[in-house]
Amino acid sequence: MRYEMMLPHQIRAAIDARWPVVLPLGVLEYHGEHMSVGMDTLAVTGILDILDREMNLVILPPFYYGAASYAVEPPERSGTLHVNAETLVPFAKAMFHGLLRIGFRNIHVVVHHQTENFLAGMPTDLAFKFAARQAIFAFLERERGEGWWGNEKMADYYAQQSSGDDPFNWIKIHPLMTPEVMDGYPFDHAGEGETSLMMALSPEAVDLSRLSEDKWFARSARQASVERGLKGRDHVLSALRSALGG
Ligand SMILES: [Zn+2]
Repeated sequence: MRYEMMLPHQIRAAIDARWPVVLPLGVLEYHGEHMSVGMDTLAVTGILDILDREMNLVILPPFYYGAASYAVEPPERSGTLHVNAETLVPFAKAMFHGLLRIGFRNIHVVVHHQTENFLAGMPTDLAFKFAARQAIFAFLERERGEGWWGNEKMADYYAQQSSGDDPFNWIKIHPLMTPEVMDGYPFDHAGEGETSLMMALSPEAVDLSRLSEDKWFARSARQASVERGLKGRDHVLSALRSALGG
């Protein structure tokens, strides 16, 4: 369900049943002449819309304003909109803290942008990861007071942690394309992989007649196809289904 459409009784039911609450996270960035600037975020929302039809989910309004960077193209007349990661941290921390206050304990962020080496991290996902950790510390201190971790009630902390039940699991961040997905599908920027995926999820965001050979990263988009995209979509769906516990 889309969070903004939910009634309070539905929100309470989702909290009690621990439905995954998912923030689609991405950027607005130049993706060559043939694809829309929202590609990264649209890929996440397109996949979540499909999952929403088969499992219980709360989908938060997507956040498009990540740190795109100007590595691909300067912003002037290209459409890339970059917001510094330092600016994202306080926003994301406040947002996560607010979600914890509402009562959600099964929060997920799904991000697509510079996520090919997700374990090391890049500014957008690191900002949200850092903010999530800070929000959880702030929330626990507010609810339980300082010294909450050292309290006798926490004596089973390490056991809880291994069972996946500790507070630091309340917010998890996933790449849209995991290493397993990337094994069977090309990870690229505006190339065959992303273009095919967009053709399968949001065909109106692609116009291959506009493809420019000037940009090296976009050249492989010539091989893009809906069939390829549908295969990628299915890989992503199965990985995300298990990440969200469906
Ligand atoms: Zn992209």
